[in-house]
Amino acid sequence: MAKDFYEILGVSRNADDVEIKKAYRRLARRYHPDVNQHDPEAESKFKEVNQAYEVLSDANKRRQYDQFGHVGRGTGGEGFGGFGGADAGFENIFDMFFGDFTGQRSRQSRGEEGSDFLVEKEITFMEAAFGAETVVDITRPASCDECHGTGAAKGTQPSTCPTCGGSGGVRTSQRTILGNITQTRTCPQCRGRGKIINQPCSTCRGEGRVNKKEKIKVKIPAGVDTGVRIRVPEKGESGKFGGSTGDLYVQLKVKPHPVFERNGQDVLLTLPISFTQAALGCEMELPTLDGKEKIKIMPGTQNNSLLTLKGKGIPYMRGHGRGNQIISIIVDTPTRLTEKQRQLLEEFAKLRGENGNHQAESLFEKIKSAFH
Ligand SMILES: [Zn+2]
Ligand SMILES: [Zn+2]
Repeated sequence: MAKDFYEILGVSRNADDVEIKKAYRRLARRYHPDVNQHDPEAESKFKEVNQAYEVLSDANKRRQYDQFGHVGRGTGGEGFGGFGGADAGFENIFDMFFGDFTGQRSRQSRGEEGSDFLVEKEITFMEAAFGAETVVDITRPASCDECHGTGAAKGTQPSTCPTCGGSGGVRTSQRTILGNITQTRTCPQCRGRGKIINQPCSTCRGEGRVNKKEKIKVKIPAGVDTGVRIRVPEKGESGKFGGSTGDLYVQLKVKPHPVFERNGQDVLLTLPISFTQAALGCEMELPTLDGKEKIKIMPGTQNNSLLTLKGKGIPYMRGHGRGNQIISIIVDTPTRLTEKQRQLLEEFAKLRGENGNHQAESLFEKIKSAFH
């Protein structure tokens, strides 16, 4: 008798598409010919897994299979013998090994899949700009050490469910005018798990998982910003009853910098200069992400002028290059003048022919001419 496809993939009868895909990837990775050279057993397992996936990943074929226990040849032109090639379903071998599921665990499980876990992590402005390795502290439901995640008391093992014989499903046959119709339902005794626990583990009360505090290393790529989520595979919640583990997502929050602000990949710096520096021009050193840099302020620089240092911003997260550093110049008007300073400025104003009301008068002129 042909093996049950759900059993081959190690998923329950009510597994959703994501679960099926995850289980398939795990097993395909394990039995892939490229990692099991000249092992005929692995090769036939690999074919089995592919065959099961081909049917269970296709809603139509899966429905047929659930109802009739097989997928007939000639229905829609392809039977399930149509196993297409070594890496059917994968773009390439890299996708399989380095794609979404890079975890090391590849054991078969039919427990309940663990959820993904989200934590927030504060990082510094510079860490966000140039990347870093950081550590997040989490408390998550992780596999119980006492029972190794099975949920069964020490020294005991979960036993095969007597109702469904371990398949997780029961078939019911109904006689109708169209003949016998066989349907498969989730097994009521084990709820599709295929195993039952007679003596639950006392540490986890049979759940196979307990809350654990952990420090998880996270690699932060250069160029990230607040809101970016970093995925750490299989560091989420452990599944119940030995089910597979979800992923950890670390959501980043970037702390403000004392002088830099961020606008996308550009870094903004507000630079106050005195009005004499603005008028006469000068050279000055100012901070950039890469350290001190000398810049030139041109004579006659106006308030709110912008200077751009190309390529001195934040690296792009995907791709090459960096944003710019934008310097916003604020001309500082002096306050609290000494007597000598005041005299000099008055002198200066006289030399420029400035007499207090000069600018305002030109405004009155404009208004007048508008009415006549
Ligand atoms: Zn059962
Ligand atoms: Zn336990």
